[in-house]
Amino acid sequence: MWQSTDEDKPREACGVFGVWGHEDAARLCYFGLYALQHRGQESAGIAAHNDNGILLHKGMGLVADVFKPADLDKLVGLSAIGQVRYSTTGQSSLTNAQPFVVRHRRHSYALAHNGNLVNALALREQLEKTGSIFQTTMDSEIFLHLFVKNLDLGLESALVKTVESIKGAFSFVLLTSDGELIGIKDPYGFRPLCLGRVNGHYVLASETCALDLVEAQFIRELEPGEIVIINKNGIRSIQTPRPKRRAFCIFEYIYFARPDSDIFGHNVYEMRKAMGRALAAEMPVDADMVMPFPDSGNYAALGYCEESKLPFEMGMIRNHYVGRTFIQPSQSMRDFGVRVKLNPVRKLLAGKRIIIVEDSIIRGTTARTRIRALRDLGVREVHMRVSCPPHRHACHYGIDFSTRGELVASKLSTEQLRSHLGLDSLHYLSLEGLLKATGEPAAADRFCYACFNGCYPVEFDQELSKDCLEKA
Ligand code: SF4
Repeated sequence: MWQSTDEDKPREACGVFGVWGHEDAARLCYFGLYALQHRGQESAGIAAHNDNGILLHKGMGLVADVFKPADLDKLVGLSAIGQVRYSTTGQSSLTNAQPFVVRHRRHSYALAHNGNLVNALALREQLEKTGSIFQTTMDSEIFLHLFVKNLDLGLESALVKTVESIKGAFSFVLLTSDGELIGIKDPYGFRPLCLGRVNGHYVLASETCALDLVEAQFIRELEPGEIVIINKNGIRSIQTPRPKRRAFCIFEYIYFARPDSDIFGHNVYEMRKAMGRALAAEMPVDADMVMPFPDSGNYAALGYCEESKLPFEMGMIRNHYVGRTFIQPSQSMRDFGVRVKLNPVRKLLAGKRIIIVEDSIIRGTTARTRIRALRDLGVREVHMRVSCPPHRHACHYGIDFSTRGELVASKLSTEQLRSHLGLDSLHYLSLEGLLKATGEPAAADRFCYACFNGCYPVEFDQELSKDCLEKA
């Protein structure tokens, strides 16, 4: 039997990358996607533009498995876009893998999307009523349908009009049949998207860690509601109307983004440490050591130690060579799936009082098993500190916990969860503490934190689920 080893964590939405004007655009894209692999592992794809049109290669799986050198050799062109995907709307299948390429009135377009459109159902219904035929069940396809309908207005006006009619979280990279590279960020700025330059050529990337790998210089992040059009004339920026408030996804800092990336104006590693420090100040507890369950919570645990002056230990060791799936043993071996990945250091832990720092508890299943393993070793006290508030509400902006039923904190109180997990104490960082830890004076109007308090910055049409467009 095959079993996933990561069932207790939210899976990221997607990562996008784009290159303009580089003679090896597809290969650069490949490396960019490689650096963004943490944002999506279900499928990967690259579309490249040359004088003959747009070429595409995509497949299910990790970047390294989807692309062989010969595949990249075929993607000849000076501009390219790519995507790694975890499906948030639309089932996981090759048809739904991106970039998505369409042909319209002798022109081709390729699109890659990170985020979720919250008015997708209504828009799709309207479009189908007027004759549109959809190839996929992805919300991203709606953007292209609207965009080509608006093209009589000219490229720039078509982009602006389309952005104004869609709602939700979107960071798009778009490639046109003229080889233009276009970056678009939604008016609230939910998902990160940055602009860089390598050897005089522009690149767009979900996170700066991808710029680092291709040795691109960071120029700036796109503004919420900004469209950038990159072509032989340089770069042109268009600002679409945007609300006063922003809604940068605060969970990118807590869990999603890579710690070596700078997003929304801050370094992710530093942010996680600040959250750990805030956690220690808010709810200290006497103990012999602080440890994370690697790798989640590593950086918040470092911050917690800095503030509490307690020693940091790696009390559990990760097997870095275990894959995402593996063959189960034929005979029953209790908690094999958890132990194959993380194993406690017995001599370090026996008889100790420990504080585990976690970045989040989504379903709580693996945490429970790991805590039981610590108890079995003779750990005297197990306290848990979580570097964000309890997840009690679904995310409609591109993260995979899209129904409340998946969230253990929406069903159990903190005290009930403490008892369920077998802990001596459990404390979550308060929302006030989290916002303060960002160091942003107007943090309440800068970030989205709807999964904690249920106040959604952008209204959604109805409960969206992965397969809602299939049922429609
Ligand atoms: Fe991020 Fe939570 Fe807002 Fe979703 S609801 S965008 S996960 S902060």
